[in-house]
Amino acid sequence: MSHDSPEFDLIARHFTRPAANAVLGVGDDCALVDVTNGMDLAVSVDTLVSGTHFFPDVDPENLGHKSLAVNLSDMAAMGAMPYWAMLALTLPSVDHDWLSAFAKGFFDLADEFNVSLIGGDTTRGPLTLTVTIMGEVPAGAALKRNGAKVGNDVWISGNIGDAALAIAHRHGKLVLEESDYHEAVMRLYEPIPRVRLGQGLRGLATSAIDVSDGLLADLGHICRLSGVGATVDFTKIPLSEIGLRHIESGAGRTAVVAGGDDYELCFTAHPNSRELIAELASVLGVPLTRIGQVKRGKGVSLLGPDGKPLKIDGRGFDHFSSGA
Ligand code: ADP
Ligand code: MG
Repeated sequence: MSHDSPEFDLIARHFTRPAANAVLGVGDDCALVDVTNGMDLAVSVDTLVSGTHFFPDVDPENLGHKSLAVNLSDMAAMGAMPYWAMLALTLPSVDHDWLSAFAKGFFDLADEFNVSLIGGDTTRGPLTLTVTIMGEVPAGAALKRNGAKVGNDVWISGNIGDAALAIAHRHGKLVLEESDYHEAVMRLYEPIPRVRLGQGLRGLATSAIDVSDGLLADLGHICRLSGVGATVDFTKIPLSEIGLRHIESGAGRTAVVAGGDDYELCFTAHPNSRELIAELASVLGVPLTRIGQVKRGKGVSLLGPDGKPLKIDGRGFDHFSSGA
């Protein structure tokens, strides 16, 4: 790539910022970072494809936020401290207005978490965004998916379902009031990654995952990897006011238990940790709700108000399942 090529111009204009916490940022063949002694390097990558992960008419600033937020959420779920991001951009054409709005959404969120963009790649093709995130976690202290134990509580942060309700509205499966739709769609496009919560849960949570594919599906991953089962009390699942207005409908229930994109943290913890978890919730100002129990066996069952299993359509978003 020569210095006067459009790609170079694009990178220089939109994606070159000082990388305060890196040895070397954008511009060379590799970026260089200095990893702290005694820390494990935590690395994750996520791809967003137009039409699959976002509506093609999405506001580019929201998309810039989301492309980084979903990666920060993986750091959160691991209890890691994010530092460095790489951005692989595939664009159908070069539209500087679009790019500067995208970069604004990306860097506003990056600045909030002191994350530096240290490199990437720029290619032409159908709109696709791939972000790699790197961070650090004290050696051995990461929150993994495989540590849930029988008798643990199941917890969830914030409230869930709004992002999926916005999607259900867009697909005509239910109808949200206009102001509810605007609020719910912001949960979809501007999720707040629970990075501080993830770090606060080190030493408290026995396992953790971020809810990207749906509560039942994601808790199911914890169960499978931990060799346990779990129950979730449907009536304990924390909902927003929008969620409360739609929970009685079939599509509303499905959105809450099987809809993804909330990026809240679902985690398990020993019952002895309840007080410390409540303290953490109040220090961070993030509601943490106990919604179920880890059990012997396999899979997640959803319990109704009478304690009997509830059946809900759809178990979460699975890109390769034929029935999804
Ligand atoms: P190479 O030819 O080695 O692949 P590139 O020409 O793709 O290098 O990129 C030049 C520099 O710009 C590299 O440091 C790369 O990390 C960075 N870069 C490329 N695209 C992006 C982007 N979308 N965002 C941030 N940095 C980028
Ligand atoms: Mg390249």
